[in-house]
Formats: sequence, structure tokens, C-alpha cells
Amino acid sequence: MGGIRLKALLHVAAVMDEVSHMADLGIDFGAPKVDINKLRTHKEKVIGKLTGGLAAMAKMRKVTTVRGYAAFVGPNHVEVQETSGTGQEKTGSKQTIAFKKCIIAAGSQAVHLPFLPDDPRVVDSTGALELKEVPKRMLILGGGIIGLEMGTVYSTLGARLDVVEMLDGLMQGADRDLVKVWQKMNAKRFDNIMLKIKTVAARSQPEGIEVTFESAEPGGKAPEPQVYDLVLQAVGRTPNGKKIAADKAGVVVTDRGFINVDIQMRTNVPHIFAIGDIVGQPMLAHKAVYEAHVAAEVLAGELQGNAELASGAFNARVIPNVASTDPAVAAVGLTEDQAKAQGIKVKKGLFPWSALGRAIANGRDEGVTKLLFDDSPEAHGHGKILGGGMVGTHAGDMIGEIALAIEMGADAVDIGKTIHPHPTLGESIGMAAEVAHGSCTDLPPSKR
Ligand SMILES: Cc1cc2nc3c(=O)[nH]c(=O)nc-3n(C[C@H](O)[C@H](O)[C@H](O)COP(=O)(O)OP(=O)(O)OC[C@H]3O[C@@H](n4cnc5c(N)ncnc54)[C@H](O)[C@@H]3O)c2cc1C
Repeated sequence: MGGIRLKALLHVAAVMDEVSHMADLGIDFGAPKVDINKLRTHKEKVIGKLTGGLAAMAKMRKVTTVRGYAAFVGPNHVEVQETSGTGQEKTGSKQTIAFKKCIIAAGSQAVHLPFLPDDPRVVDSTGALELKEVPKRMLILGGGIIGLEMGTVYSTLGARLDVVEMLDGLMQGADRDLVKVWQKMNAKRFDNIMLKIKTVAARSQPEGIEVTFESAEPGGKAPEPQVYDLVLQAVGRTPNGKKIAADKAGVVVTDRGFINVDIQMRTNVPHIFAIGDIVGQPMLAHKAVYEAHVAAEVLAGELQGNAELASGAFNARVIPNVASTDPAVAAVGLTEDQAKAQGIKVKKGLFPWSALGRAIANGRDEGVTKLLFDDSPEAHGHGKILGGGMVGTHAGDMIGEIALAIEMGADAVDIGKTIHPHPTLGESIGMAAEVAHGSCTDLPPSKR
């Protein structure tokens, strides 16, 4: 639920940013007054609604829920140390549950850097979501999506941001053309974007957390130590495979804590399945749910002797990903860099939202939609779409269309000739396909 909590806050931040942008259009609402306690309550209400809904649906389907810490005690039994209250306090009661089949879905947790002090001013994403107060200066340790989304919230609420990333760019894995636009639009949030820099030490001081940096390149220059009111460690997540006594059931866990599964989500023990963050990257909720459906169908099929259900498998071609920043960055399938690295020749269709009526009307025309089509000789000029992405407002709401196009093996004509409603941001997908095809009339003619 970390994702939903964060999205509830990101929505508030996006509205605040949008409202402040209205001043440029002649409507000035003045400076916002932030009541952090109310905001916190709102976020918890969102979660309450969702978890309440899930619990009700489980009950309707006659699912028994047992609350507590589970660990295997054999290949067909788990022991649960029960918990109660709002936290995770153990009640002292235990129960052993026998199972014919099991799905492991124990998730992951934030990586904690060993040299960071135990100090309430050093938090992971869970701690940052508590939104205790808004710091003046905040360091985001790790320039990935979770850190930057969280930074967006805190910066809109008033914090100045620094980000430190040991690699050479933020949002690694996302298309550089898209990240460039995001970075330009967000430059004002940051005092320092420290790339190819490592954090090597941190000390609790009365005035804040003093952080020391080192260059990630031999002989490179590092910034001077800095003092922060809040340090968010967002350097990745580690799977919980080693915390469930999997060995007692004979389930193999890798050194990093992952559990390997086949395309039916089956572990090395045939009646035990695993899904979600614990089975590997990408650690995303929609991937976990898809895998959960596969495992549940296979398992139910086997128990009921239903061969069709039992033959289920994970066969999605692509998994989209979204950074719900402002602007959002969304992508699915191959990026241009990945295509290059894999020696795949691609044709690019890039449509700038500066030529998109709806984006101009919204006063947010910085976006770009980019599609990549197979341009190998075997494709004979009708190559299927291999990947695509968008940077811009609501990009995350539109990426599903590109995922569907990849799943259906669409080419540029299929997408370009699909009528998209006008004026919408989604039109940019059809137009990017037309650009790749060479038939786009919404841009100046390309030079031949
Ligand atoms: C801040 C944040 C933002 C995110 N944003 C997004 C997003 O925008 N989109 C997206 O797709 N994904 C997002 N994710 C990732 C997403 O939350 C995970 O990929 C998804 O929740 C994984 O599902 P899961 O079932 O594997 O694990 P989880 O949802 O983590 O569930 C695992 C559960 O198992 C419990 N558990 C662990 N060990 C035991 C045990 N021994 N006994 C009993 N229970 C146990 C845990 O307490 C937890 O409740 C975000 C994650 C974070 C932290």
C-alpha cells in the first residue's frame, strides 16, 4: 500500500503545483496554507478505504484471514505468531496452519545503508510517508522513482531538495529523452543534483544529519559535507525471502533473498508458489497482481482437476512502469538505449506535445510521446511496436494503450489509423505512430 499512500500525497502535490501555475495564466489563489495533520489523516483515510474494501471482498469469497508473522515449519505447515493493534505487536499466541498448496507473497523492504545513524531524521519510504513534518533541507539518497516521487511531495510542501545518485543519471532504466524533459521541468525543486557521487558517511548532529560524499569515479571530485533536516534512503528494495524459514519447506532462496519460480509461478517445491517482489524485478504492484492471478489459477486448477485453469502461465510480453512525478514519466517495452545495446534497429516516432492542442490548452505542453518500431530488414517497413514512453501530465494513465499495442503486435499504421478522440493527450500516441510512419500532418514536413 506504500504506492497508494504516496499517490494520494502526489495527487495533492500535483493540484498545489497546478494551482500555483494558474498565477501565470492570470488567476492567483495566493500562497497555500498547509495543515499537515489533516493531510496525514486524508492519506490514512485513502488506505483505510482500500484495505477495508479488500477485507470485505476476501470475506465475500470466504477467505479466512490470519494476522501475524508466518514462517514455514515444514513443507505443508506454517506457524503464525499472531499480532494485533495498529502496529505489529505480537500477542504471544501462535497457531500452526496446514496447507495443501501455498503462495508466498512476503514482498520486500527498503535497503538500509549500514553507515546511516539510527535517528528519526533518517527515514526510508515508509518513514517518509508518515509525513511527520516538512524539513527545510532534504537529501534523497538514490535517484530512482520512489525517491523522486517522495521528493516531489516534500518539495511541493516546501522542502528544498538535494539528490545523490552513484550512477550517471536519475531514473535509471527510463528513456533519456523523457528523463531530460522531467529534469528540466523539475530543476527548480533541487539545490544540488549530485550524479556519480556516493554517500559514504553520516553523523547525527544537533542541527541535522551531516552527510559525507565521495566521487563514484576514481580521482573524481566530491561535494563538501552537507547538513540536512531529513535524509530519505531510497537506494532500492530487498526481497523478504530469508525471513520466512523457507528452507524448512525445502524452498530455495537465492543469496539476495529472491525465490526463483517458473512461468506458472511455481517454486522448486511443486505445491508452493511465489509471486510479487519476492520473485524478482520489476518490483511493481501490477506485476505482482498478474503473477498472483497466474498462481491462483494454476493452484485452483490443480486442486479442482481443471486442466484449463491448471495450464495458466505468465506470458505477458511487457510490464509498464510509471513515475508519478510532475510531469509523469511512463514507459513500456524497449527503450532506445536497450534497443541499441541489443543491436535491434528501430524506427522512432517522437511527437512533441508543443504541437498537441489539449496540452497547449492545459498550459502543459512540455511533454513528449515516443514510440519505437522494429526496423529490421525482416520487418519490410511494417515493423511492430517494440516500446514506447511518454513524459507529461497524465502519462501514467495513457501508457496502457502502448502496452496493449505491444501485446497485440500493432505496427505504426494500426496505431496511427486508430481514431483517437480530439482534443486529448492520448492523441499524441496516434500522432507519434504517424511520425514513425511518415504520415503526420500535425508537424512540419520532415526533411527528406
Ligand atoms: C513507497 C512505494 C511506492 C510504490 N509505488 C508503486 C507504484 O506507483 N506502482 C507500482 O506498481 N508499485 C509501486 N510500489 C511497489 C509495490 O508496492 C510492490 O511491488 C508490491 O506491493 C509488491 O507486492 P507483494 O505482494 O510482492 O508485496 P507487498 O505488497 O510488500 O506485501 C507483502 C506483505 O507481506 C507481509 N509479510 C512479510 N513477511 C511476512 C511474514 N513472515 N509473515 C506474514 N506476513 C509477512 C508484509 O508485511 C506485507 O504486508 C511502491 C512501493 C513503495 C515502497
